[in-house]
Amino acid sequence: MAPKDGIRCWVCGRTAEEVERSIGSPAVEPTEADKNIIKVNDQRARFYKVATDWGEGVPDQFKNMDFNFIMGNPSQFKSLRFIDDVEQAQKTYVEPLVGISAHAKKGEEVVVGEIKVKADDAKRRDILVRQLDEFEKRSGRPLSMLDGPKPRGFDGLKLADGLRYLRDLGVMYFVLQQKLLELDQEEEKKKLPTFGISMAKIKTFPRAVPLCTVCESLIKGL
Ligand SMILES: [Zn+2]
Repeated sequence: MAPKDGIRCWVCGRTAEEVERSIGSPAVEPTEADKNIIKVNDQRARFYKVATDWGEGVPDQFKNMDFNFIMGNPSQFKSLRFIDDVEQAQKTYVEPLVGISAHAKKGEEVVVGEIKVKADDAKRRDILVRQLDEFEKRSGRPLSMLDGPKPRGFDGLKLADGLRYLRDLGVMYFVLQQKLLELDQEEEKKKLPTFGISMAKIKTFPRAVPLCTVCESLIKGL
């Protein structure tokens, strides 16, 4: 039961505001989610930079060629330094994203990077579905290669556009992790102790009295 505003601690006589002021904001250790968000942001920034460099210095006659044609004949286009990186990025980001999209929409367990979302975790699955829907709407291309109207995947994209789309897909892979971690962070923050006054019962006392967080923990220790 929360006491009314202005109520003072029965022991030290301070209001909740005074207690909070005297303690200041408690030093909070970074949580697991805090650390992982920093890690994912860092990976995203690094990938973005690498992927942006792919298109740099590519002659226009290549830029206007079909993305799928070039990627389907890698040995013919050895002069393009990034071919191997692009193939790797498709395996690392595009293939998993297609799976993430399918599993999340079907209500199945989803794995995103190092994060596992259980089938019954509708809240996190909804986050994924919403992000992926918005991404598909923005790009006008469904992630699922199995159904949905054309254009699919990289169909019809010129090299320059395909490289940009691939970059967006890779970034999306990290954004999904970031959104899930932000929810973890929110939930972890809610578990942190708050300072204030609540009604508490002391062993030898017949009724509950208003006690501030500090006095309550002191008395409990007696
Ligand atoms: Zn007190």
